[in-house]
Amino acid sequence: MSSAEEYLYDLHETQFVLFEHLRVQRLFEFPAYSSFEIGDVEMLLNEGLRFCQKVLSAVNSEGDREGCRWEDGRVFMPKAFHSAYKQQCAAGWMAISTEVEHGGQGMPFAIGAALGEMFVGANCSLSMVAGLTRAAADLVISHGSAEMKRRYVKPMVEGRWGGTMCLTEAQCGTALGEIKTTATKRDGKYFLKGQKIFISGGEHDLVDNIVHLVLARVEGAPAGTKGLSLFVVPKHRVDDAGRMGEFNDVVCSGIEKKLGIHASPTCQLVFGDADQCEGELIGAEEEGIKIMFDMMNGARIGVGLQGVALGGWAYQSALGYARERKQGPDMKNFRDPTAPSVPIAQHPDVRRMLATMKAYVEGGRALLLHAAMCLDIATHGADAAERDHMNGRIELLTPICKAWCSDTGFEVATLALQTYGGHGYLKDYPVEQLLRDAKIASIYEGTNGVQAMDLLGRKVGRQGGALFMQLVADINQFVAANKDNATLGPALTALERHTQKLQEITMNFAVQQMSGDMEYPLLSATPYLRLMGNIAVGWLLLEQAVVADRALAKLYAETGAGDDAARAKLCDEQPDAQFYDNKVKTAQFFASNLLSQNDHLATAIQSTDRSPLDMHF
Ligand SMILES: Cc1cc2nc3c(=O)[nH]c(=O)nc-3n(C[C@H](O)[C@H](O)[C@H](O)COP(=O)(O)OP(=O)(O)OC[C@H]3O[C@@H](n4cnc5c(N)ncnc54)[C@H](O)[C@@H]3O)c2cc1C
Repeated sequence: MSSAEEYLYDLHETQFVLFEHLRVQRLFEFPAYSSFEIGDVEMLLNEGLRFCQKVLSAVNSEGDREGCRWEDGRVFMPKAFHSAYKQQCAAGWMAISTEVEHGGQGMPFAIGAALGEMFVGANCSLSMVAGLTRAAADLVISHGSAEMKRRYVKPMVEGRWGGTMCLTEAQCGTALGEIKTTATKRDGKYFLKGQKIFISGGEHDLVDNIVHLVLARVEGAPAGTKGLSLFVVPKHRVDDAGRMGEFNDVVCSGIEKKLGIHASPTCQLVFGDADQCEGELIGAEEEGIKIMFDMMNGARIGVGLQGVALGGWAYQSALGYARERKQGPDMKNFRDPTAPSVPIAQHPDVRRMLATMKAYVEGGRALLLHAAMCLDIATHGADAAERDHMNGRIELLTPICKAWCSDTGFEVATLALQTYGGHGYLKDYPVEQLLRDAKIASIYEGTNGVQAMDLLGRKVGRQGGALFMQLVADINQFVAANKDNATLGPALTALERHTQKLQEITMNFAVQQMSGDMEYPLLSATPYLRLMGNIAVGWLLLEQAVVADRALAKLYAETGAGDDAARAKLCDEQPDAQFYDNKVKTAQFFASNLLSQNDHLATAIQSTDRSPLDMHF
């Protein structure tokens, strides 16, 4: 059985998604990626996994136990993190998808996302340092002046300086229009004053300097989100030559004690207590929220990845345990008191849990890697119409990636703990930490309730509903092209039926919204997101199943497995056949057991019950 430290990951499954399902090698035709080959990527994935197992997960539970320590404004990370972080920076793992000209490796986003899953899975708290820094550096690259890029990007990409995203204040997390932090202009410079809470990595001792991206209101700007501007606020000022100088009046007044991610410091930051906190404006005044959202869309996909990553390790752990833990006889021998105990993986109820975890993890991974590949095509594709199509797809899928994957990631961690029984509740195994660490993903980067409102209130109706209709058209086209598949026919029919239902529900919402009824659609926004997420994931899992079914047919032909018995034997004994057969069965299980949740969700949404709106809370 695995120890709490050992990161478990199914590299074969990721290689299948990248190279056989999504065929990321198509991206190597773009000039930006023309120097890469499948062999390079495979090597990188192997090296990345080895690094995650040897270095990052080795300090994961120690970091959880030790946590972060605040002392007089300074924050100390767990001791073992220092060496792991140094190795991560030295090996160039900080900015895999950042362009080469800015010091990154210039890899496709889809490859970066696949590696990102391993890094976050192996050590979520430590990976947040790199993840937030990379996101902040990418924002400076996209929106900062040439001067800013020259001074800030290199040390961030190299991991010598950290980066944060400072939005939340005590009175506002979701409603950012209520931000009170101000920026006052003096002698042509901006000085910030205010307090932020819950800032991940706001202060710590892994880096020499921290570059905060702060939303604040320039004095006299209008109320609401439209009046917000974005500032680069380094902890230590940086001179024209890029040298770190004096302290910039950003004080960490404390860190939070919390359920999970104990080794990620969640900081209260005070800006400008001594009126000396200088900030540099990014973009123009009052463009802050628009620019910050650029960073948040990427970050939201990253948070979805956290769900898949932690759920992924939890599933692998539970699977290993279930194969070894013996308990009770096989059901076929339940009347025989002398029958030997069998591994719990043989019991039908445990198999149901394992199949559910497998389907959610592999479905979430497919969704996120698909979204990342859309981003690659939207950024580097040669065809303008395809770029637009992909941009629209990312817009539509971002809230689903964030909310569906973080919710199911937590559900997977819960099922994994359940699979362990009482042992899962102990600190001897990784699942209790994974469960605690996974919960935050449904809360930060906009709660999942906010994601659901974003999907239903903004994304589905965007461009007159065109983005939504394109997704439906792609799914219908896929179903039509494969409907004759004998193995997958019933699952494809189910996908088609549920997609029709999704269209019907979406149309009803549009009619309700046009009639001025906003409350009822919003009451159903969360079940609606789950329903649509189930369809998107069901589609991708069935695409995988079609690929796997073809690969299996080829294997049967090559090995001469002509009848059911010979094929079943091949699937029992040959690893590739087993893998593909499991892929087909995962899609079938998803369609019959998990996509079928949509019947319940649709009934609830269409019930027109408004009682929560009328309850006396
Ligand atoms: C560990 C941790 C790390 C974090 N890291 C960062 C960070 O690095 N930077 C940063 O800026 N912030 C960070 N946050 C803050 C996080 O993004 C916020 O907690 C989150 O956005 C929710 O805000 P809130 O806590 O104020 O909840 P609230 O906004 O008070 O929401 C409470 C509940 O009400 C719901 N709700 C609120 N408004 C509405 C509405 N209009 N309609 C329907 N439902 C609504 C929400 O969905 C939620 O369920 C972090 C938080 C934590 C716990």
